[in-house]
Order: sequence, then C-alpha cells, then structure tokens
Amino acid sequence: MNQKGGVGKTTTAVNLAASVAAAEKRTLLLDMDPQGNASSGVGVRQGTRERSVYDVLIGRATLAEVLVPTEVPGLLVAPATQDLVAAELELVDEADRATRLKTALAALLEKDPFDYVFIDCPPSLGLLTVNALTASKCVLVPLQCEYYALEGLTHLMATIDRVKNGYNPTLAVEGIVLTMFDPRNNLAHQVADEVKKHFHVFESVIPRNVRLSEAPSHGKPVILYDVQSKGAQGYLSLARELLLEHAGGNA
Ligand code: ATP
Ligand code: MG
Repeated sequence: MNQKGGVGKTTTAVNLAASVAAAEKRTLLLDMDPQGNASSGVGVRQGTRERSVYDVLIGRATLAEVLVPTEVPGLLVAPATQDLVAAELELVDEADRATRLKTALAALLEKDPFDYVFIDCPPSLGLLTVNALTASKCVLVPLQCEYYALEGLTHLMATIDRVKNGYNPTLAVEGIVLTMFDPRNNLAHQVADEVKKHFHVFESVIPRNVRLSEAPSHGKPVILYDVQSKGAQGYLSLARELLLEHAGGNA
C-alpha cells in the first residue's frame, strides 16, 4: 500500500505475486482497488468479471466463489470491479465494516491454504485500505524516490498504527520497495538514503523499465511478457529476497 497514486503498487502486486507463484508457491492476488488494474494486469478484463471482491465485502459471495485462475500456474486472482467504490458507502453503518475482508480471507484459507496472498490497495487510506490492512500480516510499501515521498510515508505509518491499535496488533511493516528507480538521478539516491535511515528497504530495487508498463496491455505479468527485461529481473530478485526473509523465520 501507499496512498500516493501511481507509485507502482499494482505493478508490484502483480509482478511480485507472479514471481512468487513462479517459485512454486500457491499464490493469491487480491484486488482491492475499484480501478481493477491488478485484475486486468493478469488478464481478467473488465466486463468479464462476473463476481468480484465487492460481492465478498457485502456478503453476497465467498472469496472462494470469486477466484479466477491466471496464465501463471499457481496464481489465482480475486478480481475487483468499479462497484467496489460503493462498498465504502454501503458498509459505513456496519459494525464489522473493517474486518469483512479478514473474515472472508480466513474462511478461504481454512479450506484452501495459499502460501502467499498479495493485496493491491487503492491510492487512499479509506475503508478498502483499512480492510486490506486488517486482513494482512505485513505491509509492503512501494515508493518512488521523489521529493514528496517521505511526507506521504508519515501519514501512511500513522494509518498503519491506527489499524494496528484498532484491529490487527501483529501487523508489521515488511519493508519499502523502491520503484521506477533511475540511478542517474541524484535526488533518487538522496531519497533512498533518507528512507533507509528510518525503514527496512529491500535490497532489490525496481528500475524504470518500459517492459513493465507494456506488459499490462497484454494482460500478462512481465515474466510472461519479457522475462529477460530489467523489470522482470527486478521483481524476480524481490521475490527471492522476500521468500528468503520468510524462510529465515521473519514471516
Ligand atoms: P494507483 O495509485 O493509480 O493505483 P499504482 O501505485 O498502482 O497506481 P501502477 O499502476 O503500478 O501504480 O504504476 C503507475 C504507472 O507507472 C503505470 O502506467 C505503470 O505501468 C507504470 N510503471 C510502474 N512501475 C514502473 C516501472 N518500474 N518502470 C516503468 N513504468 C512503471
Ligand atoms: Mg494501482
């Protein structure tokens, strides 16, 4: 998550999930953004989504009923549709509004254990993001190294603390992923150094790479579009790092 728009949340959710699935982990990509970009990024087009995370949140379907397979073996997606916007309003008076996703996910995982679940959040700190944080073990923050990046982080950490105190005491910040990194840009290095003083930053850095922006228009994660590209290699490396950390007992 990151409430700032266009920082690479969806690109990271799609490609990290695909890379983890490629390492033979059973993986779920859960789309919590009404824009539905994560769903289309793995080939589930708008209009073909019969049931979605919206139906799950309002209690009309179970999560198991909305899962769709993708072209990547072992990667399933729970798609989002635009009506997810309405869920924020429809749930406003419900006592369990913040824990709907958590309850749905727990019911799914009881019957169908996934090794990893990645949730793509919208660029806001509203109820959808709160549901995602409440249902999660840890938070991964994609960050573009630019001037205002750090300011946004303060708000984001305050929201994470609020959810921690209210609904999810064991929620942890897994780390920051530097995205769209341009090593020739001095400011990018300065911001990266500053972020590293305060947070765990993954060693794998995602470079700016045109293949990553082209792949979604083909409905494919980048490992199926151009596995040799720097972008694909970046996400494969990030997946390795994440899996190693978890194997080391930090899960
Ligand atoms: P939103 O806040 O709208 O949900 P987001 O944080 O999910 O946005 P993305 O959709 O992943 O961000 O990325 C924004 C744009 O930048 C997209 O067009 C995407 O294809 C492109 N992009 C993301 N990462 C990279 C990269 N490493 N190199 C080049 N383009 C990238
Ligand atoms: Mg997005």
